[in-house]
Amino acid sequence: MENQLQIYNTLTRKKELFEPINPPHVGMYVCGPTVYGDAHLGHARAAITFDIVFRYLQHLGYKVRYVRNITDVGHLENDTDELGEDKIAKKARLEKLEPMEVVQYYANRYHKNMEQLNVLPPSIEPTASGHIIEQIEYVKEILDHGYGYEKDGSVYFDVVKYNKDFNYGKLSGRNVDDLLKNTRELAGQEEKKNSFDFALWKKADPKHIMQWPSPWSDGYPGWHMECSTMSSKYLGDRFDIHGGGLDLLFPHHESEIAQSNAAKGHDAVKYWMHNNMITIEGQKMGKSLNNFITLNEFFSGEHEALDRPYGPMIIRFFMLQAHYRSTLDFSNDALKAAEKGMNKLFETYNTLDKLKASGTSSVDVRKYEQLCFDALNDDFNTPIMLAHLFDLSKTINLVNSGSQTLTQNDIIFVKDLMGTLLFQVLGLRDEREKDDSQLVEYLMQTIIDLRLQAKKNKDYAMADKIREDLEKLNIKLKDTKDGTEWSFV
Ligand code: ZN
Repeated sequence: MENQLQIYNTLTRKKELFEPINPPHVGMYVCGPTVYGDAHLGHARAAITFDIVFRYLQHLGYKVRYVRNITDVGHLENDTDELGEDKIAKKARLEKLEPMEVVQYYANRYHKNMEQLNVLPPSIEPTASGHIIEQIEYVKEILDHGYGYEKDGSVYFDVVKYNKDFNYGKLSGRNVDDLLKNTRELAGQEEKKNSFDFALWKKADPKHIMQWPSPWSDGYPGWHMECSTMSSKYLGDRFDIHGGGLDLLFPHHESEIAQSNAAKGHDAVKYWMHNNMITIEGQKMGKSLNNFITLNEFFSGEHEALDRPYGPMIIRFFMLQAHYRSTLDFSNDALKAAEKGMNKLFETYNTLDKLKASGTSSVDVRKYEQLCFDALNDDFNTPIMLAHLFDLSKTINLVNSGSQTLTQNDIIFVKDLMGTLLFQVLGLRDEREKDDSQLVEYLMQTIIDLRLQAKKNKDYAMADKIREDLEKLNIKLKDTKDGTEWSFV
């Protein structure tokens, strides 16, 4: 397997040749959603980014085990300070539901959205609450090696102690001295030696609805613990790729690295990958800014910031037009431009079937294969790859208009190349036919008008022919006093 794939590794801050630990197998872990609300553009970007990685690695011939978790316990409202209520427990309390009802409801909706976006399901989708025993064992390993401490039934990670032997901050670039300088005294954190020590296990207060027995207390695992535990369970103590949104870099991923070093004595992950964030007309997306648009709202158009509905493939193509490590700014105009561009490529693809072949080719279309795969091999550079496809599309249009020529073999080559890239690697679907009900309505009205005109002209033969031809298509016309109605029989 010839391998030219370069991946930008957040840990080393450079692009590196991708060399899996145990080829042809690849282990990939991606942080999935905390399921207490509907998925939005940020969720879609992470899912689509790693869907491309998953698809492309498989295209290259790797056997990928892709693990993406569901966080259903332990993620507190304030990510960095670990304060506030558990996000799921809070939603359950407000809605008077069982926490697992909240989890099931939003997990189902997340899966439906992912299907709509044509995001492939992961190989394994473990939940935090389903791996409590494994997490307790992992905490014990950290305690055994002296990097954790127990206080009043909770267990914390000792960042300062760990940093003497390892490097806390090597992923995010933060350093412990700076963290120490900026230490704030936070209410409810007196148990910790330092405010940036993070919880491995939290003692639950008796009212807390999600708690499990442990050697330390009845409680629940700290948020970072699930990803270290479940990745090592399903991918081993060393695996290839760990992905997630840039917002998870610190403290979540930094703490995952610390946990695996503390428990196993070495890093677990070879390549750390992070997708960048989405802004909305230049602003950060957030619930408080009222520019928080869920995927379902995009698909239905029911949000004041949207001027019409946008289908899942428009959202997908829009994301692929930016490199995953760049920020991406949403606007209605940007989505419309994405739709136009995507449809142009689909039209070119469909044109290939009707193209007249010549004895010789006047243009070189074979070069596009190398150009497109070079772009993908350059850290999954989908916008550059698409730019090459747009060039190719222009060439095909010139052939279609007769000003350039292609042989039958070259036409077949382009069809294969575009099909592989658009549908297999980029995971797009041409869903335009699905939205054709309006077009059908319009066409039927035109036909009915023509028949009416024929009748007025006393051309009954034509009027009957229209009716009969439609009947062959299982379409029935019914003349009423208000005009002609049509229906499928
Ligand atoms: Zn995670």
